[in-house]
Amino acid sequence: MDINIKEVAVYLRKSRDETDGKEDVLAKHESLLLEYISKNNLKYKIYKEIGSSEHIDSRPEMLRLLKDVEQDLYDAVLVVDLDRLIRGDLEDMGRLSRIFRDSNTVVITPTDKVYNFNDDDQSLINNFEMVFANHEYKMIKKRMLRGKKQGAKAGKWTNGTPPYPYVYNRITRELDIDSNKEKVYNLMKKMFIEDMKPAHEIAWELNKLGIKTSKNADWHENSIRRVLTSEVHLGVIVYGKTTGNSRKNKPNARGVQVKERTEWIVANGTHQPLKTEEEHQRILTIIESRRILPKGSRTNIQVLSKLLYCGKCKRARSFISKPNGKVYVQTCLMADRVGNRCKNRGMRVEIIYAQLMFDLEEYEQQLLNSEFQSKQDDNSTFQLVLKNKQEELNQLATGMDRLMDLYIEGSFDKDQLKARMDKLQSQIQDKKCEIRSIERSIALADNERTDEDRLQAIKKFKEAWNTEDISRKELNTLAKEIIDRIELIREGNNVDLNIQFF
Ligand SMILES: [Zn+2]
Repeated sequence: MDINIKEVAVYLRKSRDETDGKEDVLAKHESLLLEYISKNNLKYKIYKEIGSSEHIDSRPEMLRLLKDVEQDLYDAVLVVDLDRLIRGDLEDMGRLSRIFRDSNTVVITPTDKVYNFNDDDQSLINNFEMVFANHEYKMIKKRMLRGKKQGAKAGKWTNGTPPYPYVYNRITRELDIDSNKEKVYNLMKKMFIEDMKPAHEIAWELNKLGIKTSKNADWHENSIRRVLTSEVHLGVIVYGKTTGNSRKNKPNARGVQVKERTEWIVANGTHQPLKTEEEHQRILTIIESRRILPKGSRTNIQVLSKLLYCGKCKRARSFISKPNGKVYVQTCLMADRVGNRCKNRGMRVEIIYAQLMFDLEEYEQQLLNSEFQSKQDDNSTFQLVLKNKQEELNQLATGMDRLMDLYIEGSFDKDQLKARMDKLQSQIQDKKCEIRSIERSIALADNERTDEDRLQAIKKFKEAWNTEDISRKELNTLAKEIIDRIELIREGNNVDLNIQFF
């Protein structure tokens, strides 16, 4: 601020479109302006308009203000925006700019904008800006809904947490740049565009350096890519990209849908750009070129797809078909958050098949010999026990009648009867509990996959295995019926294969 400003008039007015809002706009503006005043240590007087008329003559506080300005009481008039003073009426505008010019009073805003009506070059801008603001206002009102969209159109930030390295300035409603984060952003951009590093490697580098995202989380491939492709860094503000609501706790939320690009509102932001259009295009081109996947990688289903896991990092292993037709388990390249690869080695898939067939044979024998029989026995034993228990229960129930007979015969007195009845009651309760527990066991056994099912699945798999021309996909489906999980660890020539059947 090159003008020496000490005494200011604070002018507050609601605009017409704010009158029916729920929040108190005037109070909000007042606190904003007072904050500015105390920060800059200014002397002030407040002019607060209660009505919301656009025309100067129907605004009593405005008339009072202009009179005071005319008498040169202030160095400046502080408003939230220029359009608080005036909106578009050319006659009013001429009157106002004359008063401000003659008294050598400037208009200032909390964003440190200074409108000097004595500066010829600037007065042109002032006039233009006033007309433009009004025109813009009308256009926005006509074309769009209120609130957010107006903000976006005016270059204000309305989209929540801004992308790294921007930070939201609540006073100006604009985006500022965090200078430390800006260094990180530039490093990110350099690694991607110049060093041609893939997004996941950039994430590892940043995590290694202990750098966090705007939400204080570790970086991931996707968060890097989102920051790099954002158009906000071009200096624009995009609003209305999506429709719908993603909030999970909202019932009937349809989720977020991305709208056609032509429906987006792209406005020039008031924030500083951090990349050129050329850099932006370069980033998009690099991402697009990497999107092309190696041929057939999506349909490369192997017999043990989604069944073979890494014994070290526990994640699924992938397969690779060599030109000679041989299939290998790939070295595990899973990375932790700083990019340390697991590097558990792979091998020819035939080695696993051999072990699988061997283990499967053993498992089948086990099922055939002992388990199968004993489980069958178990169940018939349960049935027998259940039958006995039910008979015992019936006997206990008839015991009640017997006790009554004995009492009537005079074999024992009333107290003895009661003691015996209580004892019998508790015996009946215990018996009922036993029966329920056995019934549960039987129900569970019935629901369980029986060994017979297992043997059937093994038989099917073995048949398919020995069928010529069977597809790997079919074998994979059948394998999933018998194998729960295979874990593989290879250290040098030591192979540890752990096959778990269902
Ligand atoms: Zn691994």
